[in-house]
This record gives sequence, C-alpha cells and structure tokens, in this order.
Amino acid sequence: AKKAVLGPLVGAVDQGTSSTRFLVFNSKTAELLSHHQVEIKQEFPREGWVEQDPKEILQSVYECIEKTCEKLEQLNIDISNIKAIGVSNQRETTVVWDKLTGEPLYNAVVWLDLRTQSTVENLSKRIPGNNNFVKSKTGLPLSTYFSAVKLRWLLDNVRKVQMAVEENRALFGTIDSWLIWSLTGGVNGGVHCTDVTNASRTMLFNIHSLEWDKELCEFFGIPMEILPNVRSSSEIYGLMKAGALEGVPISGCLGDQSAALVGQMCFQDGQAKNTYGTGCFLLCNTGHKCVFSEHGLLTTVAYKLGRDKPVYYALEGSVAIAGAVIRWLRDNLGIIKSSEEIEKLAKEVGTSYGCYFVPAFSGLYAPYWEPSARGIICGLTQFTNKCHIAFAALEAVCFQTREILDAMNRDCGIPLSHLQVDGGMTSNKILMQLQADILYIPVVKPSMPETTALGAAMAAGAAEGVGVWSLEPEDLSAVTMERFEPQINAEESEIRYSTWKKAVMKSIGWVT
Ligand code: ADP
Repeated sequence: AKKAVLGPLVGAVDQGTSSTRFLVFNSKTAELLSHHQVEIKQEFPREGWVEQDPKEILQSVYECIEKTCEKLEQLNIDISNIKAIGVSNQRETTVVWDKLTGEPLYNAVVWLDLRTQSTVENLSKRIPGNNNFVKSKTGLPLSTYFSAVKLRWLLDNVRKVQMAVEENRALFGTIDSWLIWSLTGGVNGGVHCTDVTNASRTMLFNIHSLEWDKELCEFFGIPMEILPNVRSSSEIYGLMKAGALEGVPISGCLGDQSAALVGQMCFQDGQAKNTYGTGCFLLCNTGHKCVFSEHGLLTTVAYKLGRDKPVYYALEGSVAIAGAVIRWLRDNLGIIKSSEEIEKLAKEVGTSYGCYFVPAFSGLYAPYWEPSARGIICGLTQFTNKCHIAFAALEAVCFQTREILDAMNRDCGIPLSHLQVDGGMTSNKILMQLQADILYIPVVKPSMPETTALGAAMAAGAAEGVGVWSLEPEDLSAVTMERFEPQINAEESEIRYSTWKKAVMKSIGWVT
C-alpha cells in the first residue's frame, strides 16, 4: 500500500552550471522528500570558451526526474501526488535550435564564456545616443556575460545558425526555454517561452516595459522572431509530454538566482540572499522600483509571481568564479579529488599564511567589470603548500562577497544586519565561518540548502490553476536555520580585506 502523504507535492528541475537536479517537496512544509543529481560536462574548446551540450542537459533532466520518481516509489510515495513542476536554471547560457528537427544548432554557449570579447568591444564603439543606451533599458553593462552578444556571435560565426534563421527554422532560448520547449513536446507542439527573470538577462529585454526591446534587437542585430514568448514566473506554460510525470503542468520558471531569492522568502524591500554555486550572486529585493547602482551592481527582474501580479526588481552583485575555483583545484591542479576535500585541506592549516588567490578566470565581474583581469596566486613563499592555497581559494570567495556586499550597502543606504546564504558551497563550514569573519556580520544558512529548487517549486505550486502553495512562512515549517557568528575582531578582518584588494589590483590589466 502507498503511504499517505501530508499534502500535494511539487517537483523542481534545478539546471545549474555544474549539475542538474530534480527535487520533490511537500508543499505544506517545504520538506524535501527525494532528489537526484547528475553532474554536467563542461567543454573548453579554446582558451576562454565554455560550452555545454544542450542534449546532455535535457537528457540529465529526464534522468533526474526518472530516478527521483523511482526513489519516491521506493519510499512508497505515490508520484501522482506531484501536482506541478518548476524550472530554475543557469541564466544567460545561450542555445539556438531547429524547431523542425529539435536539434541544437551549436553547443550551449555558457554564461562564463569569453569568446565575445571583441564582439563587445565593437558594439561598445557604436552605442547609439548616450553611453547609457543599453544600461538604462536592461539594467546591465555591455559585457560578454549576457545572452545578446553570445547570440550575435552564433549568428556571425555558425553557418547552421545563419541558415536556420534564413529558413525560419531557428529558435533562441536560455536553458529554461530549451528545457520547457523540449519537455512540453519539442517538435510536437513544444511551448517556446521564457519568464521575465530569464529574459532580463538576455540584454534584449526592456525591464521597464517587460517586453523584448525593438531598438536593442536592432542594435544587436537579432531577428525578433526567434525570441521566446515572455511570461510571468508563475503560470502554467504547458504539460510534461513524456516520462514518469507525463501530464503534470510546468508552472514555475525562474533564473536560478531569482529562484533562490524566492526560496529564501526575500519578498520584502531590502531583503537579500547570497548563493554560492559556480559563481556567487548576491541579490537584494528593491520592491517595485528599478534601482540603478552607482557601484557596479546590476539591476534585474527579481520575479513576477503570476500574470496579474506586480513585478519585483533586485540589485545584483555577480561574482563569476566561486565554486568554480574549487572545481579547478580538483580538475586542473588535482590537489583534491572531490570538492568536499577542500575543507579538510583548509582545516589542516587554518590560514592562507599570507597567500592570496584572485580567481579572475573570466575577468572580474562586480563591482569591477574588468575583462582584462586574469587569475593570480600571490604572496607565495617556500613555506606555502597546497593547504594554504586551498584556504586562500575559500577566502577568495568570501572576499569577493565582501566586495559586493559593500557595494550593496552603499547603493541601498541601509547596511545588511546579517547575510542569508545558500548554494552548493554552503555545506562547507570553514567557508561559512570565514565569511562571517570577513563580513563581520552573522551568516545565516537554511538547514535545507536547496533553496533554488525550493523557489522554483514554490512558484510552480502557487500558479493559477495549480494553487497548492500559498507562499506564506507556515508553508516552510520544515526549514530551520543555522547561524555563524563573526569570531575574529573587526581590525584583523579589515587588514585581510585590504591585502585582498591589493591582490585584486595586481590581477587587473593582465590581458589587453
Ligand atoms: P551551480 O548551481 O552553479 O551548478 P551548486 O550550487 O550546485 O552550483 O554548487 C556547486 C559548486 O560548489 C561546484 O563548483 C563545487 O566545486 C562547489 N562545492 C561543492 N561542495 C563544496 C564544498 N564542500 N566546499 C567547497 N566548494 C564546494
């Protein structure tokens, strides 16, 4: 006999840069009932290029859904209790595919990819009107980071893409669009859509009117007919067409950082969270106002939880490399075999012994926006060993967060009294303690670290026509918090931070 469940269940696809997950939550308590995770390959065909295979990504989603459903069955939980599915995804990563064959026309160009450096330089020379043309409409600086320039590159360099556009067969999308189109039937009636949060990262989307911007599309030379329909973050887009969850509505869609903001219940003006994944992203809810930063932060759409619901905006501090530095130590230097091992090495020494590691592998994002920066490890002596480097790598993540928190505090006026955190790296206790020490405010982490997936599940469960999640705090009763208090004194913290800044200056201007 199947076990009785305590309420309707909601599933979430969390398609990140490092891995894909599928998770199933109880909508009455936010308890995580089961999940499955698959690591995603990253290809580096040339220096600075980062690609992923869209079909591998899609396959990983199906695999995670099937495996999670098997695990639920083993727990005697009836999968017909799953009433909705939400999607959260790595943002900006760009896919173009053929709507007649369902085949991707090139690999996904990942957000971290730097190949568009010269595209960006050329475009920046011919920005119409004042220099604020792109920023004022999109909230974003012209950078290799966002989809428009990646799409421009594909149109300029990939014959298959050019031909498909000419023959009216091409569809563009970020990972959410690719997945929703495929999951809702692909060539057999797949729904080509995206949500406002993902659209706001393409650099083609006007964050004031919440529509694709004709002038921006002209500026970047993007044919508007290949763009997906823009929807709210919480509404039924379509139904699952295949697999164990066939017929279940997909009714939530949020870029991963927006999903984490929702999953952390940062619904009030001034509430913020920091997510430590491949990169590190601090978002602060600014309510219905678009706040423009004076300190290198982005303005972005936070969420819009329903067709008739108001839009919320956020200020965002984006750091390109956080967990990726740990993966690099594992895959490129081989000083650890798994990401978790970094903690053991760091613990052995408890200090970087004056070694600083600036992981500017993809230039520096916020608050510097310096494409000329490259990674450096400095302050080395005969005494330095791999443990110190491991410690310095963790410290680098904390220093980068400090830089964006400082910028955020300056832009918002009211300093944050504590930092809510989540993401894959937050299972690292040394990192969490170091972060509290370097920020000199408490760091607060939910017991259930899958906040991104939770946010997508909440959006899906709250959608009109689903209505199994109320978005009230009572519905998160299974989530408890862990606090890390600062333990070193403020003066020591400041000295370390100012040495870090010296190291950052040395990383800038490395390539010209
Ligand atoms: P994403 O959403 O970007 O795919 P995740 O939130 O899944 O990222 O986090 C994965 C990242 O966190 C990887 O880059 C990995 O190296 C890093 N990571 C995972 N566990 C640890 C750990 N215990 N200590 C430090 N880094 C970790």
